[in-house]
Amino acid sequence: MNDSKYIYLDNAATTPMDPRVIEEINKHFKETYGNSSSLHSVGQKAGQVLLKSREIIASLINAKRDDIFFTSSGTEADNIAIFGVISKNKEKGNHIITTSIEHHAVENPYKELEKRGFKLTFLPVDKYGLIEIKDLEKAITKKTLLISIMFANNEIGTIEPIKEIGAIAKKHDLIFHTDAVQAFGKIPIDVDDMNIDLLSASAHKLYGPKGVGMLYIRNKGVRDGWGKFIEPIMYGGGHERDMRPSTVNVPGIAGFAKAVELAKEEMEGESQQQMKLRDRIIKWVTENIEDSYLNGHPTRRLPNNVNLGFKYIEGESIVLDLDMEGIATSTGSACSSKSLDPSHVLLAIGLKHEEAHGSLRVSIGRFTSEEDVEYFLEKLPGVIERLRKISPLKKEIK
Ligand SMILES: *Cc1c(COP(=O)(O)O)cnc(C)c1O
Repeated sequence: MNDSKYIYLDNAATTPMDPRVIEEINKHFKETYGNSSSLHSVGQKAGQVLLKSREIIASLINAKRDDIFFTSSGTEADNIAIFGVISKNKEKGNHIITTSIEHHAVENPYKELEKRGFKLTFLPVDKYGLIEIKDLEKAITKKTLLISIMFANNEIGTIEPIKEIGAIAKKHDLIFHTDAVQAFGKIPIDVDDMNIDLLSASAHKLYGPKGVGMLYIRNKGVRDGWGKFIEPIMYGGGHERDMRPSTVNVPGIAGFAKAVELAKEEMEGESQQQMKLRDRIIKWVTENIEDSYLNGHPTRRLPNNVNLGFKYIEGESIVLDLDMEGIATSTGSACSSKSLDPSHVLLAIGLKHEEAHGSLRVSIGRFTSEEDVEYFLEKLPGVIERLRKISPLKKEIK
């Protein structure tokens, strides 16, 4: 791992921290140790850091400062959004609309709710991973209380039509939650323009610390026609205005804010640079490696995401062999890559089981250079060729 040459191309699983974020966190570890709920000046100082951080993070998505609620992760933000809304709106209905390609942090809460008697619609997606607006509209019933659709997919990078979805939610007076963990800080988000009521984000996907996330809650949960539309799922001290009690991770949050500040400054140039590297990989691989193809949308995808399919071999083997060459990649979702089930996302875009097993996610980051990409492209063909030579599938299929 500390070899002179180790190339990290798994930034969708998590990112290394930006050194400027580390510096900021270290400063706060030393200086801002107070509990933001304390009355004394050390606590008040922590409170000030929280306010400032909220303001910076809100400004990235055109939100109001007080609508940002800090959590311990993206997963926790998703769970508060989901269980908080259904718990508050039990009388309104029991139907939720989501997609068949959500991250496990959303998919698994909904599977659990299905067991508890809720009615779930998992919208299908097309071969690119996009939902159809007309399917969404058709799915809405009198009992629908929540629409929950991810901003951009973590495996294939597809960006959903969030503004159109928000418009439908508004038209039908429904609450709209989006898991924006992958999109946040990478592509522009405007919660007002897109009519988003709830948005989850996580610091470690944008060069911030692990274990820090946030949930945006429109007007702190009060919306026209809705009164209070969400309630807490944990009860304790009064932190985060009771929405997420537990002593607040002030240094981590200050690091999150620093990461957001950097993302804001660098988003445009960075995404241009990443798209160039992304498209270089896609073009080179699909043109030069036989029986390879792109998963997801050719253009409507995150600037840093590449997802490639290689026939006759398994993604896991490619990842392990690339690791031996000093390159970190993934088969898709870091959370499911230890199980043998094929990715639900790749099955949802219509891949066959054996195809879904042969996928490789390459996610570029802030610290990826052109040389890194060229090194990867130099090593990849040998790995694919070696694995295909020993693949039993190749003979069976051909
Ligand atoms: C990583 C990720 C999460 C989970 O965030 P954590 O902070 O790791 O809990 C949720 N949704 C998506 C789309 C993700 O990529």
